Amino acid sequence: MAAGVEATPQVLIIGGGVVGCSVAYHLARRGQTDVVVVERNTLGSGSTSRAAGGVRLQFSTEVNIRLSQYSLDFFENFNRYTGLSPEECDIGLHQFGYLFLLTDNQTWREFQENVVLQRRLGVPVEILTPPQLAERYPGLEVSDVLGATFCPRDGHASMHEVTQGFARKARQAGVKFWEDCAVKNIKREGRRIIEVETDRGTVRPEIVISCAGPWSGQIGDMAGVNIPVTGYKRTLFFSEAFDELSPTQPMTIDMGTGLYFRREGPGFLIGETDESQPPSFDTSTDWHWLDTVVEHAMQRVPAFERLRIRSGWSGLYDTSPDHNAIIGKIPELHNLFAATGFSGHGFQQSPATGLVISEMVLDGAAHTIDVSSLGIERFRTGQFNRERNIV
Ligand SMILES: Cc1cc2nc3c(=O)[nH]c(=O)nc-3n(C[C@H](O)[C@H](O)[C@H](O)COP(=O)(O)OP(=O)(O)OC[C@H]3O[C@@H](n4cnc5c(N)ncnc54)[C@H](O)[C@@H]3O)c2cc1C
Repeated sequence: MAAGVEATPQVLIIGGGVVGCSVAYHLARRGQTDVVVVERNTLGSGSTSRAAGGVRLQFSTEVNIRLSQYSLDFFENFNRYTGLSPEECDIGLHQFGYLFLLTDNQTWREFQENVVLQRRLGVPVEILTPPQLAERYPGLEVSDVLGATFCPRDGHASMHEVTQGFARKARQAGVKFWEDCAVKNIKREGRRIIEVETDRGTVRPEIVISCAGPWSGQIGDMAGVNIPVTGYKRTLFFSEAFDELSPTQPMTIDMGTGLYFRREGPGFLIGETDESQPPSFDTSTDWHWLDTVVEHAMQRVPAFERLRIRSGWSGLYDTSPDHNAIIGKIPELHNLFAATGFSGHGFQQSPATGLVISEMVLDGAAHTIDVSSLGIERFRTGQFNRERNIV
């Protein structure tokens, strides 16, 4: 190793969130263990730690549905696939379903189109009328609802356990994790990254994979390429125990307001997107937003008048211009890949993302799932397909 060079791994992964850890795991599973993951804080401390943990098949584009199908199967069989015992790792998967409530004609039409696509791809999604909703979910105010879609396989899981499970297996296989270590600069020679400067010293990797979540634009700047991803603040609140709705109440999403809530133990997790938020890296909790969320929550569930909020947090959506991930090689550089820009669905897509990135690195192309539509080139050509099922 040259003087002053700390490591010369085959692969350097920037960012130890759930995506970076999944990429490390999937590379290690295929035998590529000459990998260093550089994380400036602790593993999973970025957006991953702030998510709602939602996992679902109900998306509006084929690529997102296929990524979710691989990922949900992975979550359902996490212990079998990773070889970790339930005592070592319990990802806490609860499949209470996702229930989307539609209140305007255009969105309702779009969701019915989505159901056609979802069913064609094998998603067991139901369409519910307002009377069916009222019968199945007493407590919901549905007088303004035109219809709903429901998939019983959807649910939520623990971001922490999934991230640690991936990291643990990768570490056991020989992958190195450098925590408390920031990437500070990236040096290029022509169309190759030759050096990455970190708090621990210089690294000379053959391949760099940027999994830096909302901070991916900064990594792009260091490498001299545009990665159009930035952070937008999103806030969640958590309630005391509440027994006036079913203990298996699904993740319920009111597409009219963007309000969503699901069971979190005996209480509820509840959130809503504040569309007025500017791009930022601020994660201080937005308590002023609580009034709006509670007002919309009480309109949808009148009994929520008695819901007592006990805590809350804010985190960053890792947002791309079309609310879809950027997965693949950065064309301007021969040895830089990105897996980022998940725009609020990166936790649930992390298993499939690790898989396809490992295929790109080891086999030259993704072959299990066609993710060509998620290449960064789409923003250069303007040919992109927005994900519609988002909040
Ligand atoms: C309120 C909220 C609710 C959400 N709900 C859901 C949900 O229900 N389902 C879902 O699928 N997703 C959800 N998400 C989105 C999800 O959290 C993200 O898409 C996902 O965590 C992205 O993972 P990541 O590993 O790409 O990013 P991160 O977890 O942010 O990891 C990136 C890491 O890179 C590190 N890093 C950055 N710059 C550097 C540097 N220069 N050097 C070294 N390290 C660096 C950071 O410290 C960070 O740990 C939600 C997000 C929020 C905020």
